Amino acid sequence: MSKILIIYTGGTIGMVPTENGFAPKEGFFLDEMKKVPDLKMPEMPDWDFIECEPLLDSTNITHNEWNRIAHMIEEHYADYDGFVVLHGTDTMAYSASALSFMLEGLAKPVIFTGSQIPLCEMRSDGYDNLITSMLIAGRGVVKEVALYFGGYLLRGNRATKASADKLIAFSSPNYPELASAGIDIVYNRKRLLEGDDLPLNVVDIGPHKIGVLKLFPGIKFGVFEPILNSGLEGIVLETFGTGNVPNYDPAFPPLIKKALKGGTIVVACTQCMQGTVRLNAYETSSALAKAGAVCGYDMTTEATVTKLAYLLSKGYPVKDIHDLMETDLRGELTRPE
Ligand code: ASP
Repeated sequence: MSKILIIYTGGTIGMVPTENGFAPKEGFFLDEMKKVPDLKMPEMPDWDFIECEPLLDSTNITHNEWNRIAHMIEEHYADYDGFVVLHGTDTMAYSASALSFMLEGLAKPVIFTGSQIPLCEMRSDGYDNLITSMLIAGRGVVKEVALYFGGYLLRGNRATKASADKLIAFSSPNYPELASAGIDIVYNRKRLLEGDDLPLNVVDIGPHKIGVLKLFPGIKFGVFEPILNSGLEGIVLETFGTGNVPNYDPAFPPLIKKALKGGTIVVACTQCMQGTVRLNAYETSSALAKAGAVCGYDMTTEATVTKLAYLLSKGYPVKDIHDLMETDLRGELTRPE
């Protein structure tokens, strides 16, 4: 019989209605969970439960909670076959991405899940998300950080919240699902990471100065100068298409060059849901390529921001961070052939 640990951080799955809208309530979720008949079935793994304090709407999750979750997993790593992290959906893809980098040497399942409708409300999607995540965590086939939601198991650092209200709320536009749960849970074994043989090592994430700038037609880069040249450690540019930036504005190249010269790591991602960045494919991406920006390839913004934070926290020199940002570390990136 396998044994899993459930780490409950908050999120809609355990929320109750209040006069200000849904909010988590201490002690409530475990009682709700105990009423779920499936959890008494013989197929279910044994489970223990930790409730974080305070419980959070995931909108309020920061690197401090990532560190706490990672250390809880580390502390109990030897005692359990897998872990389920119950988390709000709004920033779940960020937390799953962050943990995928922070948990070096991971060789057990860490499954993030939650729900769009609270467990205490009618038609909650929390039942399947919870039960199936527990089965996946107990089964031990997956040896990485993944996110289960609406019938699909996705790689954590490939997932993004794609819908504010649909019950299939997450998608993984650049990597196939790791498993799908229909009548059976079918694993896509060829797509799973193998898991490391190394001992688990947690890298704490510090409070880094990282910015994200989404481009839009007509953008005037001068408006953003105080931010771009404020000594940020990293800037993620959500560019158009394959890495394109308007070249009507002469303010852009010197701004970016100055940022790079000052040691800021500039990463070009795409604001498209799917596909990859190819700097130099167009004249409009050549300024970024010439200046020495990092090509974010097909990484999600969530993976890019958290990978930057992880590499900065490791204290690597800028040149190494630049190279590692373009290297696949945990299955978060595919370089085009
Ligand atoms: N605001 C909620 C949260 O992220 C939404 C959810 O869980 O679905 O905690």
